[in-house]
Amino acid sequence: MLTYDVVVVGAGGAGMMAALSASENKNLNVACLSKIFPTRSHTGAAQGGINAAMGNRDNTDSPERHFKDTVKGSDFLADQDAVEFFTKRMPEIIQELDYYGVPFSRDENGKVAQRPFGGASSPRTCYSADKTGHVILHSVYEQCLKNNVTFLDEWFLLSLVVEEDECHGLVAMDIKSGEIHGIKAKSIVIASGGFGRIYWNRTTNAFNMTGDGTAACFEAGIPVKDPEFVQFHPTGLASTGILLSEACRGEGGYLLNKDGERFMKKYAPDKMELAPRDLVSRSIEMEIKAGRGFGEGLEAYVLMDLRHLGEEKIMERLPQVRELALDFEGTDLMKEPVPIRPSCHYMMGGIHVINPETLETPVKGIHAAGECACVSLHGANRLGGNSVADVVLFGKYAGIGARKTAEQRSFSGDTLLTEKATEWHDKFHTMRQKEAGKSLVEIRNTMAGTMWDNVGIFRKKDEMVHALETIEQLIEDYKETFIGDAAIRYNMAFVNYVEIGNLLTLAKAVAMGAIAREESRGSHSREDFPERRDDEFLKHTLIYKEGDDYRLDHCPVSITSYTPEERVY
Ligand SMILES: Cc1cc2nc3c(=O)[nH]c(=O)nc-3n(C[C@H](O)[C@H](O)[C@H](O)COP(=O)(O)OP(=O)(O)OC[C@H]3O[C@@H](n4cnc5c(N)ncnc54)[C@H](O)[C@@H]3O)c2cc1C
Repeated sequence: MLTYDVVVVGAGGAGMMAALSASENKNLNVACLSKIFPTRSHTGAAQGGINAAMGNRDNTDSPERHFKDTVKGSDFLADQDAVEFFTKRMPEIIQELDYYGVPFSRDENGKVAQRPFGGASSPRTCYSADKTGHVILHSVYEQCLKNNVTFLDEWFLLSLVVEEDECHGLVAMDIKSGEIHGIKAKSIVIASGGFGRIYWNRTTNAFNMTGDGTAACFEAGIPVKDPEFVQFHPTGLASTGILLSEACRGEGGYLLNKDGERFMKKYAPDKMELAPRDLVSRSIEMEIKAGRGFGEGLEAYVLMDLRHLGEEKIMERLPQVRELALDFEGTDLMKEPVPIRPSCHYMMGGIHVINPETLETPVKGIHAAGECACVSLHGANRLGGNSVADVVLFGKYAGIGARKTAEQRSFSGDTLLTEKATEWHDKFHTMRQKEAGKSLVEIRNTMAGTMWDNVGIFRKKDEMVHALETIEQLIEDYKETFIGDAAIRYNMAFVNYVEIGNLLTLAKAVAMGAIAREESRGSHSREDFPERRDDEFLKHTLIYKEGDDYRLDHCPVSITSYTPEERVY
């Protein structure tokens, strides 16, 4: 049986930082498993930047201000102990990345350049043109190779092997050979990214963002925390949802309705386009609803105008954005405004982490970091530039936590691992041979349409109850599906089948959490409960999966410095 002291699931920013810091103990055998080639992980799509109060562009900025902005941005649902831990350490992490060779853009004094981002009181987003995630991923990958991390590329996590809140390892498929293995580990870091694909095509997320690690933890008894908080990014391209970075607004882009009006002046007169994402997304949808957008229904959009920035600035700071708009919307943003509309972008909720310094979960041996985890740093709404920062910082500390866990635990669970691997082996071969059944594509499309229409930007009880019932029916239908591919090697139909099962499992948790939260806070906007209700809902949602049943619970928010107040921009 394959055996590693530490296994990291995911090779994005969080996974690679975790693998790197775990491998600092040269006596430990560290593996990093990823369903796609490591440097193709979604972190590579992060364009705009990474937040740290370096004070390079504004010497009055400080970690304390970053702390305050993050808590306010979160609509006071973030755990303030976690936020403070994070903001204090971000400047030194930027120096660390710089040392690893990340080619940050520089200002005229040779310091790391910083740009303004939504919801921030100072320009604190460090960047590398509009390719920040890409360069971080490549630099950290090189460091992992230097530290002899074993990469299991194109390996797919199927499930975690847990008994009585103790983890023994995991079961994974080598997609290339079709072999299914039990892997023994003393500690595991789950860093498998978000699950924006519950909205399928109305997302900025890549096709593989299907929440596999989150679903595996959920099945293993770890609750999902705050799943109802889904971030819709204001500037997805109108026809595909592909992201145009927040850097567009950071660099001074305007949002215009069909009357040519910069409508943000009605919704956030001080911050205008640089208000936080939840507010800007709602403002766009309100303009469209009021008939001041272009087009109709799912095709409707408003415009983002960057022409006044001039060719030189666009080519220096936003070259990739220009290419995306040209390739996917057929618009040259140097010459005309580009059609945009909100798209699902990020999951604030995720795997319940119980300690922000070790990234432990309630199951011994399992740590979680990055977008799949809920620390909770972002509360009800994440600020732009705080996710790459989150993945790098908490990825590092998850690796340190997992290293310490591995130093204290011994290997166990051989029989259980073999049994679980055999179960998956049998399931794979049954599915390969099944020749008829319900259509997976229909199930996936119904799930996405239902979630977008009923658990999207604006929410109402009756619509969400309808969504929950539909998802429950789809979970039943899923049991009757077939994959239509008998291949053993590279059976991507089987991989997609497991992914869609995971999306359904998590979509149900999102709908449940959203129905139960009878208030509006951050990204969760209830038409039937338009106010934030701290008296009843200043608490985290926890959803447990017990067999086929879901159970709702809560846990308190850590409030150390900032008492909740009205959030005005
Ligand atoms: C287009 C776009 C632009 C963005 N820009 C910014 C930005 O400028 N600044 C910012 O702060 N945030 C940005 N974000 C958000 C941020 O990039 C992500 O939240 C963050 O990079 C997630 O990193 P991660 O390490 O958690 O996961 P990812 O980078 O998504 O990596 C997930 C890893 O898990 C692996 N994996 C998943 N499931 C399995 C499985 N079953 N088996 C094996 N491996 C598995 C994948 O192969 C992958 O290696 C952006 C997001 C998008 C979509």
